[in-house]
Parts: sequence; C-alpha cells; structure tokens
Amino acid sequence: MSADDYPKIELHVHLEGAVSPELLFAAAARNGFALPVQTPQELLEFMRFRDFDHFIRSWFATTPALQTERDYRELVVDYARRAQSHGAVYLEGIFSPTDKVSSGIAMETVFAGFTDGVQQAREELGIEVRLTPDITRSVDLDVAKATAELAVRYKDRGVVGLGLGGPEAQWPPEPYGPAFEIARAGGIGSVPHAGEVAGSESVRGALDALHADRIRHGVRAVEDPGLLRELADRRLVLDVCVLSNVCLGVVPDVAHHQLPQLIAAGVPFTVNTDDPTFFACELGDEHAAARSLGADPRALFDAGVAGALCEPELKQRLRALGDAYAWGG
Ligand SMILES: [Zn+2]
Repeated sequence: MSADDYPKIELHVHLEGAVSPELLFAAAARNGFALPVQTPQELLEFMRFRDFDHFIRSWFATTPALQTERDYRELVVDYARRAQSHGAVYLEGIFSPTDKVSSGIAMETVFAGFTDGVQQAREELGIEVRLTPDITRSVDLDVAKATAELAVRYKDRGVVGLGLGGPEAQWPPEPYGPAFEIARAGGIGSVPHAGEVAGSESVRGALDALHADRIRHGVRAVEDPGLLRELADRRLVLDVCVLSNVCLGVVPDVAHHQLPQLIAAGVPFTVNTDDPTFFACELGDEHAAARSLGADPRALFDAGVAGALCEPELKQRLRALGDAYAWGG
C-alpha cells in the first residue's frame, strides 16, 4: 500500500478540464470537430498548461469537441474511473452548460448526458458521483436562471449544487443572486468560485448574495482575518486546489500556498484537481502537495463528508467508511 492509498473525497473538478485525450479524440472524430493536432499524445502535450493565455486558447480549441449526450456521459465515467484509481470514493463534478449554448447545444442535452454519466458510473464502477454545474460569469441573468431551473429539474438525477465560474475579477457574484435563489428554493446547494483571482470581497459576496454552502478555492480569504474567523466559526468548507493555484499564478509556488494559514485558522477544506488534464495534476498529486503543507488525510476526508451536498443517507455511508478506515499515525 502506498503512502497516499487512503480514501478521498473530491468536490471540485471541472469534468471538461478532466477529459482524457483519448476520449476527446474519439468525440472529435464522431462529431467532425477539427482538433489542432493529429494524435492523442500530441493532444495531451497541447493541452498541458504553459501559461494563462495558452490555457484559454487550448481550452477553446479542444473542449468544444464534446457535444453530445454520449460525450458527456462518457466523460463522467472516464474521470470517475481515474479518480477511483487514486482512492476517490465520492466525487462532485462540475460542468459548464452555459458555455455550450453559444455553440447551439441545448442545455437539456448537456444535463441529460452528464446525469446519465452519474448513473453509469454507479452501475459500472460502484462510485457515487454528484454534479454541481457552473453558471459562467458574464452570461445574462436569464441564462443563469434557466440553468438554475434545470439544476432543480435534474435534482433526482444527481445534480446537488449550482456554481459560478469564469472571470471572477470582472464579474462579481451579486448580480447572480436571483439565479441562486431559484436553486435554493428547489433544494440545490450553492458552490460558487470566489477568493481565487479576486480577494476577500468576492468571498464576502458569495456568502451574502449567493448564500454559499461551500466556496470553491476561497484561499484569498486569508487576506481578511475577520472573514477567516467567520469561515472557521461557520465550519464552511473550502474546495482548495493547490496545483491549479500555482499554475494560474494565485501563488508563486506550493511553498507559498495559503493552506497552512487555513489549517492554523481552523478552516475546513478539501483538496481537489480543478482541471487535471490541463494542469497535469491527478488527485494523488494534489494530495501529495497538500500533505507537504501539513494537511492531514483524515481531516481532508472529514471535510469532504461535511461539505458534500449529497443526500444524508450517502453522507452517513461516507462517514462510516471514514470511521472504518485504519488511518494510521
Ligand atoms: Zn474551478
């Protein structure tokens, strides 16, 4: 058994950013989508993070190849298998339905495909996946509300949360409040990105305007001691992604990450891959980075159970699994 062969809960992975080059290649061939390279190996090299501009360019040159229910369904199963090989026992996956509207793909197609993937992952792999679609910042409120309504409609098929992603600095959370109200009224959780590229005011907005149940990233809350204390008091779980933060320049390197400050402040957090294919970080790599900064595997698991938005029976099963595991020293 290797040092990191313990059960893990991942709550922040963009499934489009987790696509394997093989799956993307096959989808592109089926859909007649022209990829910029000729082989899956070249595709992997092309997708790997170099700098922010290349990341955006490579994202839009590759992920739009995913267009059909089958593509989305296979994406869920493919990543669930990969995460499971790193010890994952429960996943909450993100997808971005509003990005696909401009390509003429119906949001219903997107929701149907991803939620079929939840069922197939359960049947084929025995792993529970839940979904937390992101509204992309900059879309009109009407589109955001339609996304929230679909999230509610697909609740019984595995959608448990509504997120907010995209350019955080230019698009504060407050205008999207009415969409998150629809989700909340329908029993769907709130999991916006905040405190990654923008500072603590963005986290404050996510808490006050969107009633966040968890915060994706949230690491820049350390810049406001009062806010940090509040997060700790409320036991609000942050979805931390150390290696993504390094790639995107939120911190200069792993050694300068905010994670030790979160531990010292008593803020609970999970560790997550964010966009593992692009950032070359599998779940095991993220855990290794977090352990090097002092994170305790059992505390990560417990924060995962606490932050999970799934039904209480499944949370109870996960809690029992954590209790039964021999965590060691
Ligand atoms: Zn993210």
